[in-house]
Amino acid sequence: MPGNVALVVAAGRGHRFRASTPKQYLPLAGLPLLRHSLNAFLSHPAIDAVAAVIAPEDRSLYDSAAAGLMLLPPIAGGATRQESVRCGLEALISREPSRVLIHDAARPFVDDATISRVLDALDESPAAITAIPVADTLKRGDGIRIAATVERKDLWRAQTPQGFHYRAILEAHRKAATEGNESTDDAMVAERAGMAVTLVMGNEDNFKVTTADDLNRAERMVRGALEIRTGLGFDAHRFAPGNRLWLCGLEIPFDKTLSGHSDADVGLHAATDAVLGAIGDGDIGVHFPPTDEKWRGAPSHKFLRYAAERVAARGGSIVNLDITLICEHPRIGPLREAMVARVAEILGVPQARVSVKATTTEGMGFTGRGEGIAAQAVAAVRLPIAK
Ligand code: MG
Repeated sequence: MPGNVALVVAAGRGHRFRASTPKQYLPLAGLPLLRHSLNAFLSHPAIDAVAAVIAPEDRSLYDSAAAGLMLLPPIAGGATRQESVRCGLEALISREPSRVLIHDAARPFVDDATISRVLDALDESPAAITAIPVADTLKRGDGIRIAATVERKDLWRAQTPQGFHYRAILEAHRKAATEGNESTDDAMVAERAGMAVTLVMGNEDNFKVTTADDLNRAERMVRGALEIRTGLGFDAHRFAPGNRLWLCGLEIPFDKTLSGHSDADVGLHAATDAVLGAIGDGDIGVHFPPTDEKWRGAPSHKFLRYAAERVAARGGSIVNLDITLICEHPRIGPLREAMVARVAEILGVPQARVSVKATTTEGMGFTGRGEGIAAQAVAAVRLPIAK
């Protein structure tokens, strides 16, 4: 069954890391680094199977890191990285994949596009690696003194995955083992065997976690990941005798008012619940109980402002807010622009992120009979991904 197999190399001891657990098993966002790397290949549609090469003494660490994942059995590695890769390649003999991608377990941020670029390059070349052109000026040091400036033109930093036609890299590794050549990556093994190796553009995020600082950087990157969440709000208030009412933060002359504990601004109440709903933070009644005298007659912009502050306190921001007012009267059309401007001002967002719409219910129901006004709102917020 020819296909594309990913070998994730996880047999290293991580001497540079100085932790008692090998770094590929240390947690990143609560999951072992290795699991992030395995998942990156498992979720790629062009990868048919994934196997890890591990140190036999790490078997229990591996079993918990890989629990529940659909992987080929783990392969016991050797004393060096090169030996481990060769063990991994030999273990695939009966499967005879057409291509193999070799990846360091300590690069948890490899992305779909990078994997695809390497695979695509293997259509034209027996070997292809992801790499990044060197942008910094390079110095050769003699101790702490500069001995020379190294021409950086044509220099690339090699990353993984490194992809190969399976038979060719297997033979290259066998040859290197026979000749006793040690290489620092698989591309070097291929080069020594005379294979043409193609460079494809890598991704700076696909860095190798080598030190404790790198792991902290990886944690910051995961924490910096954002998701969009949405919330829905609904409210209704009854008409009462009066000559003005509050709607979407505007005081509007009208032949009735809206009754309620606060200023009864039904539009802002629905909006407040939508924003609180998006961050899973209760509702307007939880934060501003109608039983509390403090909120009698309160201006509702305080409620919406508060909800926006709750979003900001979580490191989030409001993407957009869409309010629909449901009533026969007053007519909303002429007020709409001013309402959008006012709501945007309350939230502290550009007006383009706010929408106010209106509809009637064609005479049906409580709004149709003119008993009150209802409002719906949907809010989207951008929030750091919750663990
Ligand atoms: Mg209300």
